[in-house]
Amino acid sequence: MKDRQLYQQILGITTPWFVAEVELDLEAEEVHVHLAHQQASWPCAECGKPCPLHDHQNERTWRHLDTCQYRTLLHAELPRTRCEEHGVRVVDIPWAESYGRFTALFERLVIDWLEAASQQAVADRMGLSWDEVHGIMQRAVKRGLKRREAEPIPYIGVDEKSFRKRHRYVTVVSDINRSRVLYVSEDRKQTSLDSFWGTLTEEQLDSIEGVAMDMWEPYIDSTKEHLPEADEKIVFDKFHVAKHLGDAVDKVRRQENKQLREDGDDRLVGTKYDWLKGRDKFNHKRWRAFCRLRRSNLKTSRAWAMREQAMKLWDYCYPGAAENHFRWWYRWATHSRLEPMIDKAKMLKSHLKNILTYLTHPITNALSESLNSKIEWVKYTARGFRNRDNFKTAIYFHCGGLGLLPAT
Ligand SMILES: [Zn+2]
Repeated sequence: MKDRQLYQQILGITTPWFVAEVELDLEAEEVHVHLAHQQASWPCAECGKPCPLHDHQNERTWRHLDTCQYRTLLHAELPRTRCEEHGVRVVDIPWAESYGRFTALFERLVIDWLEAASQQAVADRMGLSWDEVHGIMQRAVKRGLKRREAEPIPYIGVDEKSFRKRHRYVTVVSDINRSRVLYVSEDRKQTSLDSFWGTLTEEQLDSIEGVAMDMWEPYIDSTKEHLPEADEKIVFDKFHVAKHLGDAVDKVRRQENKQLREDGDDRLVGTKYDWLKGRDKFNHKRWRAFCRLRRSNLKTSRAWAMREQAMKLWDYCYPGAAENHFRWWYRWATHSRLEPMIDKAKMLKSHLKNILTYLTHPITNALSESLNSKIEWVKYTARGFRNRDNFKTAIYFHCGGLGLLPAT
């Protein structure tokens, strides 16, 4: 191919580099572009000082954006400088980051595609292996995390996400205001969260006003150990509490249903979800039937009413009034002779202080619902993930709010 000038332009090759040769391999459907330079002095990659050329590395190859639907590869021998201060160093090149096997433009394209398609789909489309695509993601995340600034983070959420099989977890810390994931770590132990605090600057730690979480001891312990005045800042997630109470209502229903059926009464059969869902999830007819049921003299309807009343705690403006409400409710629940409700009432009592912190810091983990659905998407498209590390990278990539693109 004669038109080296054209390739220089379409590939965006700038001085001191120029296209020395273009080889077209019709059979392999590949274009090989050989780059060269004639410069005797280069800036040191470490300090930028102009330094004499020392030697050249062996030829390296980078995959670039396809040209005319042909896979296009750049080849060059990279110069090395000898800096008085930093010794022998490979120079920086404008088309790729050091040690990449793809040009920056190619990586940009892959990153762009990955925002909308699964890793496997992108790999298939671009003729890359799964590992190559994942390598590009890893570099993008590394780049993005390095660029991240130490901004104030008034409200954070700590949550666990199950990964693959039911009993494997990662801990996810999110920035509630900016709806982005700050940190992901293995498991849901105290150490899983301990490692997060060390990533914050002193100012960031001071900026934290509230931490939404489940009533999960390892997270509570870690927060108390690392966050000053944690007692005022931990806010137990409203929806987790609702779920605990819902589980108790369901337990009461199961037990009662069994007894009723022995007596030939099947009023509770098929009503499981009626007791757990909100008014807006019923159609008119079903709601009327449910109203008749919950007004009847059933243990389940008492448990249900208890759950409804407990959730009113979150509607108060003043902690004192909320505490009064809780005292009344606690007496009712603990005298109900419904074991599952008594258990949960005791649990709520021992955690009450940090349930009521909600009235000062109205945060829940559900505020980051859009984030949750992104994580679910990551999980859904993540069938190829072989380990938690890959899962973590993908969460940072899609949910970290990071600047992922290479600089060039
Ligand atoms: Zn130097």
